[in-house]
Amino acid sequence: MKVQEINQILDEAKANPEVLATDRYIEAQLQRLGLLSISQQMGPNCNLSCPHCYKNFGRNRKGFPKLKTVQKTLEEAVESEFLQISLTDGEPIRHENKKLMKLFAEYSSKLPVAIMTNAVFAYSEKNTLNWMNFLKDNGLELKNNPSLFNISTGPTYKVHWHNYARFNWALKQVFPDADFGKILMYQYLGYGNLEGEKDNISLISRCISYYFNEKRKAIEIDENNNKYIPTGKTPILLGYRLCEPEGRAKQMKKHFDLLPSRKLREFTVETTPFSVKEWEFLVIDWRGNVGFGDSLRCGGIGRVYGNVNSEHLFKIWKKIDNDEIYQANKLGGARFLYHLAQEINPDFVVTGRINCDVCKEISSSYELVNNIRQKLKREGIIKEYKEYIDQRGIPTLESIN
Ligand code: SF4
Repeated sequence: MKVQEINQILDEAKANPEVLATDRYIEAQLQRLGLLSISQQMGPNCNLSCPHCYKNFGRNRKGFPKLKTVQKTLEEAVESEFLQISLTDGEPIRHENKKLMKLFAEYSSKLPVAIMTNAVFAYSEKNTLNWMNFLKDNGLELKNNPSLFNISTGPTYKVHWHNYARFNWALKQVFPDADFGKILMYQYLGYGNLEGEKDNISLISRCISYYFNEKRKAIEIDENNNKYIPTGKTPILLGYRLCEPEGRAKQMKKHFDLLPSRKLREFTVETTPFSVKEWEFLVIDWRGNVGFGDSLRCGGIGRVYGNVNSEHLFKIWKKIDNDEIYQANKLGGARFLYHLAQEINPDFVVTGRINCDVCKEISSSYELVNNIRQKLKREGIIKEYKEYIDQRGIPTLESIN
């Protein structure tokens, strides 16, 4: 099947869930080439300790990726033609990661990089400018790198807006000819209480507008409350995302008072959402362990397929691509895996706060994951998927995205 045809079938399935029960859909998902982008963990040591952070990262945590491991990852990623690498889960732009950042900048013309930063480094004009010049001098390539700088912001980060102003200013100083909408985006993590967050969001959008919206054009807002700030070229995105507090926030009642839907509850297969086109990466932790998911928070022990220090990255990718768990995840997501877990153990029930808890709970048990894998091998993945649809019904339009 051609890529275009696969995408067309998946789009159809998104709009009409009946398609999920067809052989065309099964064939398209199983043939789809996935995990072409890498997500590299930069912590767990981080210069912030955000309450929402899913694994309690912070200054008191041990762990930075090693230069040797990252060098090998980059060499093999280029050789195997991966599409992109995102630096996240810990702050990339900080003194402790300087040698790694040099490497990412040097490789950026061969492997596009996306840098997720909390902008703490922009505490002074001098430091901000030094960092931008350092990245530029080491070859940071702009044209090749969509969403190069991805700034995480919102009340739980507790970073002063002056940092964003300094960062925008320095970016313009060092890369004056860039199409800023292509290399810069902001992601605001909020509580869904737009009235209460209005001032904060408007402060950040004014801060972007001041430096980039030269003609002071009107800002567009879409139905997800994302803002698009016009520039001379591509508009800059200030995205809005609902906070999914985990980590320390589990002890912080106020986060759950603000988000009543995030109260502790029992999940069922039928209400577990499923994404037709999963947001997925080949995820690499600071030790070089490789798995797959939306981020490292998806993975537990059952999602580790190899270590980049001892195996070629492509070989690990191939192992995942051929694995029944990954294929089942492509077909029916965490929802299908949850169904399979309950087939193996009817008493298996996930209790949690956010949808990710379903995946996390399943992948935290190596034994459970392996039992699911053996069942799929024995019975056949297509047969199991068809039985799941027959028994649980076709997911509703509201539960897929
Ligand atoms: S959310 Fe990001 S910036 Fe905050 S502690 Fe976690 S890794 Fe660091």
